Amino acid sequence: MLQVKKLSFSYSKDPVLKDINFTVNSGENLAIIGESGSGKSTLLKLIFGEYDLEQGQIFWKDNEILGPKHNLVIGYDFMKYVSQEFDLMPYTSVENNIGKHLSRFYPEEKEQRTNELIKIVELEDFAKTKVKNLSGGQKQRVAIARALAKEPEILLLDEPFSHIDNFKKQSLRRNVFNYLKTKSISCIVATHDKNDVLGFADEILVLNGKKIIAKDKPQELYKNPKSPLIASFFEEFNIINNKIYYAHQLKLVEDSNSNLKAIVKESYFNGNSWLIEAEHNDTFIYLNNIEPLKKEDVVYFKVLD
Ligand code: ADP
Ligand code: MG
Repeated sequence: MLQVKKLSFSYSKDPVLKDINFTVNSGENLAIIGESGSGKSTLLKLIFGEYDLEQGQIFWKDNEILGPKHNLVIGYDFMKYVSQEFDLMPYTSVENNIGKHLSRFYPEEKEQRTNELIKIVELEDFAKTKVKNLSGGQKQRVAIARALAKEPEILLLDEPFSHIDNFKKQSLRRNVFNYLKTKSISCIVATHDKNDVLGFADEILVLNGKKIIAKDKPQELYKNPKSPLIASFFEEFNIINNKIYYAHQLKLVEDSNSNLKAIVKESYFNGNSWLIEAEHNDTFIYLNNIEPLKKEDVVYFKVLD
């Protein structure tokens, strides 16, 4: 189990994180979400032991994670970290990057393991390619595979699929997260993409204003977003009578059924529906509709709980 206890940290005068407490169980997938600059990457780096803590302690099982002041070499065998920068060897092939830390004394096992990892990140066609000739997304996949090579007990991923195109993203997420679950590898994923989270995270931790403002299962957080910030992570939302409603919770009705009135301003194609932007009591509201609506039309809606 990972334990983060009373952690506080600042790069200079202003604190970035204040009094952070949480735990992650073995095999658990924890997502850390928060706006850009909220301290997600800093928190991962602290867990990895890249900086000295100002206050607090971090433990993986019985091992205390220590920063550079107390540790000659940063990092531990049981933990791997894929940063937003990847740090690969550019003039070396994909397979050699991935197998870098695997023992040369067992060439067959090394080759087998490398091939298994190449398959997980779907880079079969690039095994012999030098990393410098890969796209950003392909490099990111090499970095993920390399971090998995020696089966860490806990994996820290910083926006792991951010450079990967939508064509590949879906299957890659499933490959990687399912692999981690099968091997019972704990992981902490910093992300701003709800698709990295919804189907995979056991819990979500929300960072805002240097603190944890929520920690809950994805279903609970989604169903009952305690703040507009949390709701905005998931979907377009509205505040009506001081309550938060997602766009899909507003429904257009015949006028006799509702006293909520709005004037259509814009329709945006959204795949399986259209997002309608309309003016209601001097604010914009957002709702879904199966077809676009005419600008300036008056419509009526109700809220579904
Ligand atoms: P996130 O990953 O959520 O976008 P970061 O952890 O990167 O947030 O950054 C949190 C805050 O710390 C930001 O205000 C950022 O400017 C600051 N920061 C990040 N890295 C450094 C650094 N190496 N030196 C000084 N300030 C930093
Ligand atoms: Mg970051």
